[in-house]
Amino acid sequence: MSLPAFRVLQPRTVDEACRMLAEHGAEAMVIAGGTDVIPNLQMKLFAPHVLVDIKLLRELSQIEFSPRGGLRIGATASLTHVLETPWLAEEFPVLSSAVATIAGPLQRNMGTIGGNLCLETRCRWYNQSYFWRQSLGGCLKKEGDVCHVAPGGKFCWAAWSGDSAPAFLALEAEIEIASVSGARRVPLRDFYKNDGKDRISLTRNELLTSVHVPARMAGRRGVYHKLRVRDSIDYPLAGVAVAMEVDASGICRDARVALSAVNPAPLLVRGAGEMLVGQKWSRELAERVAHAAIQTGKPLTTSASTPIYRRDIVRVFTRRALEEVWKNGQASS
Ligand code: SF4
Repeated sequence: MSLPAFRVLQPRTVDEACRMLAEHGAEAMVIAGGTDVIPNLQMKLFAPHVLVDIKLLRELSQIEFSPRGGLRIGATASLTHVLETPWLAEEFPVLSSAVATIAGPLQRNMGTIGGNLCLETRCRWYNQSYFWRQSLGGCLKKEGDVCHVAPGGKFCWAAWSGDSAPAFLALEAEIEIASVSGARRVPLRDFYKNDGKDRISLTRNELLTSVHVPARMAGRRGVYHKLRVRDSIDYPLAGVAVAMEVDASGICRDARVALSAVNPAPLLVRGAGEMLVGQKWSRELAERVAHAAIQTGKPLTTSASTPIYRRDIVRVFTRRALEEVWKNGQASS
């Protein structure tokens, strides 16, 4: 599949990148690692005239922590950089656990945290070649007027299919967005629209520059569990992230559970924190939270796996993740 014709612009500063995006508007797209953008261009899902390549912006590649400012990861920090920062695995195990499951080593070398937070949503009717899509007449998200997943509806259910976002949600992360008008910080949970067609609150002239986690989240126990077809490299079909603070007597002091790949957005499980805080581990409690998780996760037939199986896996993963962090405090993928 060939690439469309485009020009590549390489800004030297964030300000210059913002000016380029403002100048070219809807004609421009941001590219960093390219692991999502390039296949999407090959499938003719987008046809920008200009790519603004931010990978070389060194000011966006740092990973740093301070007791006052908390964790800051620049948008162009590679996924490998995150994984190979040893203190991140100790202090924010849910994040390392999630990033370790993203694609394979080659893609993690290229792919960036910012790119992973801005992934395109995925659907079996959408992530196909132009020829394949045309044979079906397209769909609501692209080139058509019907949703093949939920015919008769006017909503796109394409699934959010990133792994780092649920981990960051469980850590109450915020992101910083820059444009020619200045910078703004928004809670990550407000960044995602839960709309498969219009997935994130980022206009074409804005740039996600960094993700921030409050210092108080350091030391939280955490883990991410992921369902995928190929363990070596694949998008999630369901993902569950848990971050929790447990005191010396085994009582949960703070907790969040977040899901991926079962809605058009990564979502926090409603009511999970309230159920867990102040409690000691019990299987019944974990089952109740797992039940809340499947009330939040609403997978449809956007992938090869059935919605029933993915819902059931969400329940199992939630229960397992809670048991793992509560009893062991260890992270694993
Ligand atoms: Fe298209 Fe429906 Fe899939 Fe969205 S959910 S990409 S509208 S088929």
